[in-house]
Amino acid sequence: MATVIDGKVVAQTIRSEIADEVRLLAQKYGKVPGLAVVIVGSRKDSQSYVGMKRKACAELGIKSFDVDLPEQISQAELIKQVHELNDNTDVHGILVQLPLPKHINEEKVLSEISLEKDVDGFHPLNIGKLAMKGRDPLFLPCTPKACLELLQRSGVTIKGKKAVVVGRSNIVGLPASLLLLKADATVTIVHSHTSQPENIIREADIVIAAAGQPKMIKGSWIKPGAAVIDVGTNAVDDPTRKSGYRLVGDVDFEEASKTAGWITPVPGGVGPMTVTMLLKNTLEGAKRYIEQSN
Ligand code: NDP
Repeated sequence: MATVIDGKVVAQTIRSEIADEVRLLAQKYGKVPGLAVVIVGSRKDSQSYVGMKRKACAELGIKSFDVDLPEQISQAELIKQVHELNDNTDVHGILVQLPLPKHINEEKVLSEISLEKDVDGFHPLNIGKLAMKGRDPLFLPCTPKACLELLQRSGVTIKGKKAVVVGRSNIVGLPASLLLLKADATVTIVHSHTSQPENIIREADIVIAAAGQPKMIKGSWIKPGAAVIDVGTNAVDDPTRKSGYRLVGDVDFEEASKTAGWITPVPGGVGPMTVTMLLKNTLEGAKRYIEQSN
């Protein structure tokens, strides 16, 4: 049976490490990391994600700058707000909660965030550096970074191993594959046009699943002893629940946990780690800025 990697426990450990470093920064320089969380409009899911991020900041001693803007705000006005945050030396990270209202061009707004404050790690220059040998991005995107932390903190060897990433989105699959490559794995990417993905996945020592397809990866596809990180978060109907649904991953957990060496559950695996990586990125940005300017 696989070792189940408990994302909540790992996230808690990392959060207490961050809180320690925040205290040290405050003692040494009298400054704390600052994260600006910008939300436009009143979507319930976005409000809830933003609330979670702001609460996590407060718990770790990170100063949260709350920017709540109306749905009707113009793109120019939103960009003006981003520029003000770029200029604010107490803000070390800027996060614009997506999706933005339809009249606003997301790509344009995100590209206005200063590279030094791009704690989501989505700036094309950060992704470009991630793809290049010998270059280091300022920030790594949070979910792929969470996957690597879970592997490393569980003692999984990455160097020289065969890794398969299922999915190639800009926010998860592609950067996860680039990170594994940087960590010296031999990486294959499976996507929706890949024929017979099971034959590729069966070869993998490490599988990162990020396709958004409930239980697509069967237990028989998993190489004995492989490390399986399941990013997929899919709501499926469940009439036995009050909510009427439950969350499942891209991997059939019951089957795969019999063969894998390590596996993350859904929920409770990658999910709790993602916000923690945002806080870690904010700390890293703050340390870089504060140490350079002192
Ligand atoms: P996208 O829909 O943007 O990308 C899905 C990717 O999976 C695409 O590259 C697509 O291929 C590929 N894909 C789709 N179907 C198949 C298939 N049958 N076989 C192989 N590949 C397939 O999703 P995201 O990357 O944004 O998210 C992926 C999953 O991760 C979702 O379930 C999402 O909810 C979850 N997620 C979880 C997070 C967390 O913190 N736990 C954070 C972010 C996402 P193609 O490119 O060819 O279309």
